Amino acid sequence: MDGKKLSLEIEEKLQKDIESKINLTKRPPGLAVIRIGEDPASGVYVRNKERACSRVGIKSFIFHLKGTENQKEVEQLINKLNFDSDIDGMLLQLPIPKKFDEQRLISYINPDKDVDGLNEQNVGKLVKNEAGMRSCTPAGIVNLLRSQNITIEGKRIVVIGRSLLVGKPLALMLLNLNGTVTMTHSKTTNLNKLCKEADILIAAAGKPNLIDSSFVKEGAVIIDVGIHRLTSSDKSKTRLCGDVLLEDVIHKVFAYTPVPGGVGPMTVTMLLVNTIFSWQKQFGLSSTLNDILP
Ligand code: NAD
Repeated sequence: MDGKKLSLEIEEKLQKDIESKINLTKRPPGLAVIRIGEDPASGVYVRNKERACSRVGIKSFIFHLKGTENQKEVEQLINKLNFDSDIDGMLLQLPIPKKFDEQRLISYINPDKDVDGLNEQNVGKLVKNEAGMRSCTPAGIVNLLRSQNITIEGKRIVVIGRSLLVGKPLALMLLNLNGTVTMTHSKTTNLNKLCKEADILIAAAGKPNLIDSSFVKEGAVIIDVGIHRLTSSDKSKTRLCGDVLLEDVIHKVFAYTPVPGGVGPMTVTMLLVNTIFSWQKQFGLSSTLNDILP
């Protein structure tokens, strides 16, 4: 499943969508990204989001805080952006320094601008299977499956990982789409046996090469969410890998997502989709994105 190709196809549609509506809105969609501290991976992710925004015509506003601010000051910034009429979407780039109360900051984000879908109101809507902002990585995975006409309804699906960012919202989205979902985690016993029953196996454990062919049923669909940068023994080279030992499982599977080029690009694309959805809503325009939103 080629996430890069699908994300480019969706981006093309998003760009046209913005172009066709900008004469009505008189301003482009706006996305605010708050980064706190110097986590190097966050720097790369923020730059990728900024570039993706400019490709489709979203205006990005990057707020890079040093980390010397206190909780109240960040809350005040979020509040200011909540009322900024040029901004349709806002996200807090995670991780942030430990001294901040991350969940409290997320709860300050206006749910209508919460393009990461992490605010408790949006999580509640997902639990209730009501329309709301959906978190980007799980929403991207649903789109990847749909793009290959892989039915979710009635399938045995095993999700490895129960984080708020990936595992939990993904399991709920798939359950809402009538999959039979088993959630597993670091304390699950007999993980191998459970995974072997899966028609669709989704690995989001954050453990390089955790899943080899002994976990995989013949003809299964494998989604690899993990991203790890491995360094060669002489430290001269690095390469990316996922939670799945791809070369070991590839002969057994019906479809799989590569790392890189699978889930990652779709995560960024869904952020663009959520921002444009919010922009359309802000101006009372009918949404053209319903077939992309799970
Ligand atoms: P996390 O550390 O918050 O959660 C990991 C989850 O996996 C936990 O629930 C834990 O219980 C479970 N787990 C850990 N070891 C396990 C094991 N041996 N067996 C079964 N379960 C186990 O991580 P996260 O934020 O959910 O991210 C998971 C991975 O996905 C990471 O590699 C991260 O970099 C990657 N990620 C990728 C994208 C993307 O866009 N491709 C987005 C988000 C996260």
